[in-house]
Amino acid sequence: MAPLHQVPIPKPFQSVYLEDLFEKCTGCECDLLGEQVPYAVAKHFVVKEPVFEAALCMTCVASMQSQETQERITAFVQSLKRELPEDFDPETYTWEDGLKACLLCAKLREDCRRYQTLGVCMQAELLVVPPPSPSPYMICEDCNEQMSKLLSKQTKDNWDRFMERITDDPPAIELDSPRFDPVFM
Ligand SMILES: [Zn+2]
Ligand SMILES: [Zn+2]
Repeated sequence: MAPLHQVPIPKPFQSVYLEDLFEKCTGCECDLLGEQVPYAVAKHFVVKEPVFEAALCMTCVASMQSQETQERITAFVQSLKRELPEDFDPETYTWEDGLKACLLCAKLREDCRRYQTLGVCMQAELLVVPPPSPSPYMICEDCNEQMSKLLSKQTKDNWDRFMERITDDPPAIELDSPRFDPVFM
């Protein structure tokens, strides 16, 4: 098992809307801070501005992403995984490292117009897990687009319903853009 440490949830994995930690699952409203269950904080950025954020308990992630989708994503990620540098030291890995570049193609975050970040949290802490299956991580728009194609119709429908429910108005900035689905690994 990979070495793992936990840090108090840093700003990028707090809610922009609440200006604090997420308290409830965006899907089922279960208590995230009180329970000893992992949850995922996902955000989408366009030109560095957050346009979507959600905290989802693992039960909601599992009910959102069909088994078929999950298997396709796992296979896709395995096929793309980058070799770790020979001098890679998991002991010195920090959560900031996970946000520097796309997990799949290594494109730098500063060069991305749109990207997704995801971190696994437990109560008020962010789990820091070094590669090959890191937390947190970021995915560039090109890789997200490829992964979106892997989502089953059922998963896409689930996300559409979810997005309709949590957003009052679709963000205008997204309207002329290609589809950008949250992807959980
Ligand atoms: Zn939930
Ligand atoms: Zn990428």
